[in-house]
Amino acid sequence: MLSPARRDVAGIVDVVVIGAGISGLSAAHQLIGGGLSVTVLEAADHVGGRMATDVVDGFRLDRGAHLLNTSYPELRRTPGLRGLPLAPLAPGALVRADGRGYRVGDARGSRTVRGSARAPIGSTLDRARLGTTLNRLAATPASRLASRPETTAARALSARGFAPRTVEGFVRPLLAALLCDPELQTSSRCADLVLRGFARGRTCLPATGAASVPRRLAAGLPPGAVRLGTRAVRVAVNCVQTEDGTELPCRAVLVATGARAAAELLPGLRVPSFHEVTVLHHAAPVPPVREPVLVLDADRMGPVSHTLPVSEIDPSRAPAGRALVTSVVLGPPPDGAGDKTVRAHLAELYETSTDAWELLAVHNDPEAVPAMPAPHDLRRPARLLDGLYICGAHRTTSTPQGALLSARRAAHSILRDAVPHPADTPTPRAA
Ligand SMILES: Cc1cc2nc3c(=O)[nH]c(=O)nc-3n(C[C@H](O)[C@H](O)[C@H](O)COP(=O)(O)OP(=O)(O)OC[C@H]3O[C@@H](n4cnc5c(N)ncnc54)[C@H](O)[C@@H]3O)c2cc1C
Repeated sequence: MLSPARRDVAGIVDVVVIGAGISGLSAAHQLIGGGLSVTVLEAADHVGGRMATDVVDGFRLDRGAHLLNTSYPELRRTPGLRGLPLAPLAPGALVRADGRGYRVGDARGSRTVRGSARAPIGSTLDRARLGTTLNRLAATPASRLASRPETTAARALSARGFAPRTVEGFVRPLLAALLCDPELQTSSRCADLVLRGFARGRTCLPATGAASVPRRLAAGLPPGAVRLGTRAVRVAVNCVQTEDGTELPCRAVLVATGARAAAELLPGLRVPSFHEVTVLHHAAPVPPVREPVLVLDADRMGPVSHTLPVSEIDPSRAPAGRALVTSVVLGPPPDGAGDKTVRAHLAELYETSTDAWELLAVHNDPEAVPAMPAPHDLRRPARLLDGLYICGAHRTTSTPQGALLSARRAAHSILRDAVPHPADTPTPRAA
């Protein structure tokens, strides 16, 4: 129940969006495009939420490990993101398996160029099978994948036509990296969708850093639409109360925070489990590999799940004459504040000495990625009550595509319900 408080005298907006991560900003864009007035409340002093980039000694360091894919429909459909500059990776991956490095050609699995001819992903026939299966996934409509029988990704892999060596040597480490789920307990439907994206498009990084995505969205909003440093503490269907006691009357509320913050505002909302992610950034005197490639560890002999020679992918992220390597541990930081184990593992993965590497930053988020175990509902409703809506990566798939898609659904739902507008001033009602 909302307690009596100061009322904002600036007038009633149609929609108050809580959270200026990519889902809140994208929804705000679409609501404004649909003719509604919108105020976005953001607790932090910057927009972007988990998609943040810090500048340290001329390096651009993402706090998360955000891999985009050119096949994400929302990158084309989200109005503010059309033309977003992307830095593509080379197709396929460099895989460390059986103690050696192998270049697993492209998404169709057609070639291996490093290491021996007997690559750990299997025989020529196995590689051809990998190519055929990925091509088939690429051509299957997403709606059909989303209605397949559901189990865990780990169990489904053998049923997808991959040879066991192909699974262990390539598909498993790839999926673990894309889903941030080392045990592959994610719903097989979500795994299929992610693999489909990998097979259809190019994996890429947002050029100049992950923060460029929310910054671009925010730049398209009217001045003053986002209020930074403003934490919402209570919501009703037509009013939001902020930490300083101000009440903002409105016609609808969209909660676009992470899952836990959403449950604090909306008691009763289920909080999912999460995958913990630690991102480590190292400066190196030279790039450890001269190719913009994703490096995977199939051997699981160290803490790093995957690593990227980031400055080879996006040169704008490192100062001239230095290289940036970003590595992901799916769990807590292995060495506390240090990185001895990580650097030893990176030396094996890149087959080079890392003695001269300098640790620039470590970012850990125990709740980085909402888990998507089977059964996973890919279409959680955006509309909770008349006037109360929700969006965010935790409502669809835990990817930037999922965050943007859930924003689109929430905006559609609000715009559908918003006509005609009640002309009178709403009286706060409890959610
Ligand atoms: C270390 C790390 C690694 C990651 N790795 C990956 C990955 O590999 N792949 C992947 O797909 N995703 C990854 N993510 C997650 C990715 O960042 C999210 O999927 C995406 O950014 C979610 O966007 P969102 O808008 O739903 O939520 P968020 O980015 O969490 O934005 C929510 C916003 O709401 C604000 N907020 C919260 N409570 C309130 C309140 N009460 N009042 C006002 N504002 C509030 C927050 O400050 C925040 O700005 C990672 C994240 C981190 C941190």
